[in-house]
Amino acid sequence: PADAEAVLVVDAIRKTFGGLVAVNDVSFRVAAGEIVGLIGPNGAGKSTTFNLVSGALAASGGAIHFRGERIDGRPARKIAARGIGRTFQHVKIMPRMSVLDNVALGAHRRAGAGIWRSMLRLDRHDEARLLAEAARQVERVGLGAHLDDEAGSLALGQQRVLEIARALCADPVLLLLDEPAAGLRFQEKQALARLLRKLSDDGMSILLVEHDMDFVMNLTDHLVVMEFGTRIAEGTPDEIRTNQTVLDAYLGG
Ligand code: ADP
Ligand code: MG
Repeated sequence: PADAEAVLVVDAIRKTFGGLVAVNDVSFRVAAGEIVGLIGPNGAGKSTTFNLVSGALAASGGAIHFRGERIDGRPARKIAARGIGRTFQHVKIMPRMSVLDNVALGAHRRAGAGIWRSMLRLDRHDEARLLAEAARQVERVGLGAHLDDEAGSLALGQQRVLEIARALCADPVLLLLDEPAAGLRFQEKQALARLLRKLSDDGMSILLVEHDMDFVMNLTDHLVVMEFGTRIAEGTPDEIRTNQTVLDAYLGG
């Protein structure tokens, strides 16, 4: 049954900023190994929803359960440690550091402490272990040939993939990706889609915000559509494609 399989259950989650209702009692589920798209016009509340799930923002109402445990109201680092990894809308890499070291920063973060503090505390044994784990994730995402390259020398598509490798170091069960395909070339989008499918085949759940409709329609198992903070539709790509409410929202109807 869908209930037993749901990794993430978002139940009537709400977020207000002063008088603005940014997320208005939104509910959806993500099952194990499922790729779910969160779409909608600018300002719909997609990033805010992500921030509620990751714990970057505190909800004003509703509940979020992850792997059977209530997580809303818990600190972001606890939620990350429980198995929710994320990437951000804008690439956050250290351009002069190597690909390996950039990814290793994600492995350091697994401990839940600040990057620099945890690096200072590491002994040589821990450091070797973390670098080995980082190298494994770099290979996993297909950047093995670029291990020692400066991260800033990579194409944008590869930098996005690097960020995914960094998130994978924390061994997440659910990945939150905010606009992973934005600004990518066609080939890069295809490579990214292949990687995300591979991760999902390995059992990873993925929730992504994305504006590229071709990308999202070809990749996802189901979609949640938001407008003005409200969930206006939910369904398979085929259902969403032909949903009149969605067409109206996108065409300004
Ligand atoms: P989306 O990601 O779908 O474009 P957001 O979640 O970023 O939308 O924003 C939803 C609404 O909430 C917008 O009207 C935005 O201006 C508002 N908003 C987002 N974050 C804040 C904040 N920290 N303070 C006040 N208003 C915010
Ligand atoms: Mg956004």
